[in-house]
Amino acid sequence: MRLNPKRTVAELKELRALTADENGAQRVAWTDTWLKAREWFARKVKALAVEQHFDAAGNSWVTLPGASEKSLLIGGHLDSVPNGGWLDGALDELAGLEVLRRIASEFQGRPPVTIRLVDWADEEGARFGRSLLGSSAFAGTHSIEADRGRTDRDGVKLEDALRRCGVEIDKFPDAQKEQKNSAAYLELHIEQGPVLERIGLPLGVVLGTKGVERHIITFHGQEAHSGSTPMNARRDALAAAAKLALEIRTIAKKHEDAVCTMGSVKTFPGIVTAVVGRCEAALDQRDLDAGVLAQMYREAQEASHRFAAEENCTVSWSRLWNIEPVPFHPRLVELCEEAVRETSGSSHRMPSGPLHDAAEVSRAGIPTVMMFVQSLKGISHNKIEDTKEEHLEMSVVALDRLTSKTMELIQNQF
Ligand SMILES: [Zn+2]
Repeated sequence: MRLNPKRTVAELKELRALTADENGAQRVAWTDTWLKAREWFARKVKALAVEQHFDAAGNSWVTLPGASEKSLLIGGHLDSVPNGGWLDGALDELAGLEVLRRIASEFQGRPPVTIRLVDWADEEGARFGRSLLGSSAFAGTHSIEADRGRTDRDGVKLEDALRRCGVEIDKFPDAQKEQKNSAAYLELHIEQGPVLERIGLPLGVVLGTKGVERHIITFHGQEAHSGSTPMNARRDALAAAAKLALEIRTIAKKHEDAVCTMGSVKTFPGIVTAVVGRCEAALDQRDLDAGVLAQMYREAQEASHRFAAEENCTVSWSRLWNIEPVPFHPRLVELCEEAVRETSGSSHRMPSGPLHDAAEVSRAGIPTVMMFVQSLKGISHNKIEDTKEEHLEMSVVALDRLTSKTMELIQNQF
């Protein structure tokens, strides 16, 4: 049986018909629709001579044992956000299935290295606000206590929603057993951004996932009457924040792939008849290079103090969240570039702004790389998310090539 990328596209449509409504994909993790998607996937897998089981965190593992126990992992996620797209996560998983079929057939069921296809549980974190749940359990970077008490919009506890699907949160650490013999991890994903479309390339190589610094910056001034307070006597906290909102763009633009966003600004008292006495701004900064990220953070801090002084205000910072950049494996990045070039002529190296399960696998010390396929208009997490079918087919071919190259690498070196 030869690789059949058209079958992947047909199966993606089949899954869409099964799990989407007029608002988009509804495969939210730990819901009945998600379970239905997983059952559908299990039926596809049954046609192959492979072993399938769920680990302690609800990740699904399909294993095709090879001559060597060293394993090549291919991953994706069948869960979606509510009203999501048809490709996010599902493309990775179904392309992986097609590659698995090709390898099982070519090597009469026994490839030189073991091939494992994983469907990560709850990548999106859409219901409980905790992304990368299954893959972080696998990686051992997960904190049970931090997540146990999370609730969804209806007050259902995360712990109880998982139990309904046969998963006990206290057993999560057992999922780390699946790391055994893992030699490499590959993940194909839609880009979810506009870069590849802008440069006119179907496929790109992902260098890693960007680190994130996320802070609340509070400017303190003085509430005052907007009629009686002369302009030169004001201590306007919003004026200082507004200067910073523009400055972070200058700070980010010094670096090719860096991004800085002030996504939220709250003013107090927040009425039209008062000068703003207090302003809370939320800042998100990202880059693949830890040094660049640290520099941008420092520069934003310095600028905030400068603007606070100019407006006769004071400023304080509090960190909401941060994560280190996760660079992917240099040799696998090279192989991925080869695979992309052989498939579509030329390649582009790029960091990923969004986090992916691949970042957790890489944090577990397993050599990892990701491949991106172009997203039309860069839109994702939306029912209009789309990619040209010819590009989807190319991405299956490129993933297949990358898999062959990685199998060879595992045999010879890892
Ligand atoms: Zn995804």
